[in-house]
Amino acid sequence: MIIAVDGPTASGKGTIAKALARHFGLPHLDTGLLYRAVGRQCFLDGGNPDDPVAALAACAFSEGLLTDPELRSEASGGLASRVSVHPAVRRALYERQHAFAAQPGGAVLDGRDIGTVIAPEADVKLFVTASVEARAQRRFLEMQAQGRDVSLDDIAADLAARDERDRNRKDAPLVAADDAVLLDTSDLGREEAVAAAIAAVVARKG
Ligand code: C5P
Repeated sequence: MIIAVDGPTASGKGTIAKALARHFGLPHLDTGLLYRAVGRQCFLDGGNPDDPVAALAACAFSEGLLTDPELRSEASGGLASRVSVHPAVRRALYERQHAFAAQPGGAVLDGRDIGTVIAPEADVKLFVTASVEARAQRRFLEMQAQGRDVSLDDIAADLAARDERDRNRKDAPLVAADDAVLLDTSDLGREEAVAAAIAAVVARKG
């Protein structure tokens, strides 16, 4: 079974995808991490993430970079969102994601275009959303817990800018597949959101 989990930043899609993978015994790929690695590599190379040539060159990042904790930072998220607009970058990362989805037994992938581009053949597609306020608040608490000095307003502005870029890019914009199940987690706690996602998969798959 292939499960595609798409949605904007801090919607809860990563938590949901991991929990679904555990529940259904499937391997999981966080595809945002690949774009974060490209953004980070581009930065390390001194390249401009808005330049398609520099961004494409950064797709040759080493596997070790995927374990760099810096990839989880807001700065890496911003860089990821900039390199991800380039069609050449998306093409370079396509095969790896598609092969992961197509492995025997299936998989859970989370991202922005899993249900629309990477695995349109997915058995179940979830599109996870939440209001900007709810997402900013979550991200704020997460970062505070990590001891980072951040402002709620800055986080909300950053999320809004990333949403705008992800939704409006020409290639593989963030959009729900026609056959996706919508799950709004604004008023749901972690356990409730996971339970709702499991129920949605069971309802689709039987
Ligand atoms: O999900 P995450 O916040 O880690 O993704 C970082 C950025 O990578 C997103 O803002 C988006 O621009 C890009 N991305 C994408 N397609 C994916 C996953 C992530 O364009 N499948």
